[in-house]
Amino acid sequence: MNKCPKCGNILLDFMGKPNAPILILGEYPSYKDMKIGKPFSQEMGELLLSELSAAGISPNDCRFGNLWQHMMNDTCDVNWHIDQCAKEILHRKYVLLMGSQLTQMIFKKNVGEISGLPLTQKMFPGTLFIASPHPSTIMKSCVGEIRLAFSILADRSK
Ligand SMILES: [Zn+2]
Repeated sequence: MNKCPKCGNILLDFMGKPNAPILILGEYPSYKDMKIGKPFSQEMGELLLSELSAAGISPNDCRFGNLWQHMMNDTCDVNWHIDQCAKEILHRKYVLLMGSQLTQMIFKKNVGEISGLPLTQKMFPGTLFIASPHPSTIMKSCVGEIRLAFSILADRSK
């Protein structure tokens, strides 16, 4: 396992084929994810998989990871994590951004302002971005917005 060069915490690798056309990005792993050693473990992973399957997207076409590759902390350098994340985004066909930290990073907007709208960004030519609220917020309320984002992703990636 790799350690973070900035703070020494263990890093959680991205999951799925490195050349998958779709990147599913969250904000940071949970304590459970760190313990299990994969992003989107347990309930969160089940929710994502069921939404992917409802939208007709194969998990084999997806790569999964977070902006932060360990739990968020104050001592680490967020820019290092942003750089790693940018490398994952580069040359990807479709990127689902889950949560405002990601939409702020790429579009300088909160997720509620752009959720469900297919967007592009000069910095990442050839990549189509779709934003949705983070599934952790969805699990507490309604699943409609993430379902919408997945169905748009499915339409675009066919
Ligand atoms: Zn760190």
